[in-house]
Amino acid sequence: MLLHTIAEVREQVKEWKKQGLTVGLVPTMGALHNGHKSLIEKSVAKCDKTVVSVFVNPIQFCPGEDLDKYPRTLDEDTKLCDTIGADIVFAPSPAEMYPDAQMLSNDFLTYVIPPFFYVNKLCGKSRVGHFDGVCTVVNKLFNIVQPDFAFFGEKDRQQLIILKKMVKDLNIPVDIIPCPIVREESGLALSSRNKYLSANGKKEALVLSKILNNIKICYNKGIKDINALKETAYSMLNENHSLEYLEFRDKNNLEEKETADSDTIVFIALRVEDVRLIDNIEL
Ligand code: AMP
Repeated sequence: MLLHTIAEVREQVKEWKKQGLTVGLVPTMGALHNGHKSLIEKSVAKCDKTVVSVFVNPIQFCPGEDLDKYPRTLDEDTKLCDTIGADIVFAPSPAEMYPDAQMLSNDFLTYVIPPFFYVNKLCGKSRVGHFDGVCTVVNKLFNIVQPDFAFFGEKDRQQLIILKKMVKDLNIPVDIIPCPIVREESGLALSSRNKYLSANGKKEALVLSKILNNIKICYNKGIKDINALKETAYSMLNENHSLEYLEFRDKNNLEEKETADSDTIVFIALRVEDVRLIDNIEL
């Protein structure tokens, strides 16, 4: 069932809650691929009812980012959700979510601001304000849908850690369910933004997963020194790759690691054909 308004979703969820049914929420920006599909399948398996939100959230895009050209494929997305067994596709307009255009400025809109320590690093460093937009819209979706469970991909690991922190700090009554990264056979992590890459760009983009896998192999062989592990990565880069960061951080609180251990996540962001790609691996 495709719904566009908050009132319709609330009404439906109210019915379900009356019947004592559990509700799962899968927040997305659409252009659904097998990564999203795996989250929706998890929700359908775990919960009595599943809501998939499809909303390209303007307040999480920074100036100069791809808000206008972000792929929008609602018809296909709705069909996929139906096939998997989702109960509602909630696709609000920007005006439904942010009724006053002027509210897109944080002079006028109430924002949920995650802690500085969590956002002043990794993607938050180049995408200033991005996680404010994410936390704000996810909070709104939680208030609209009131899910028992919400499903997020480990592909966006910093986002997942920040959202877990938000739920804990604000006592939001929802269980966050992390879902593993879905990859192409080649190793490339699925992303709606892969659509921007040429065939050759897709080949060049394999360097992210190759670097991460190689670091994990070296770590398993006993190399724990982070500089030595980073060196193995640098030698795999060429002029088609513009590295934004390669960092070793604690999986619980994003603190920088001094030596690699089993609590470490390796994060990478780099540009291929000016498309910003991210990936990560747990050691
Ligand atoms: P997006 O539509 O990019 O905002 O993503 C919606 C949700 O799908 C987020 O929780 C993402 O982490 C998750 N997701 C995106 N790509 C993947 C992937 N390749 N594997 C697993 N989850 C993913």
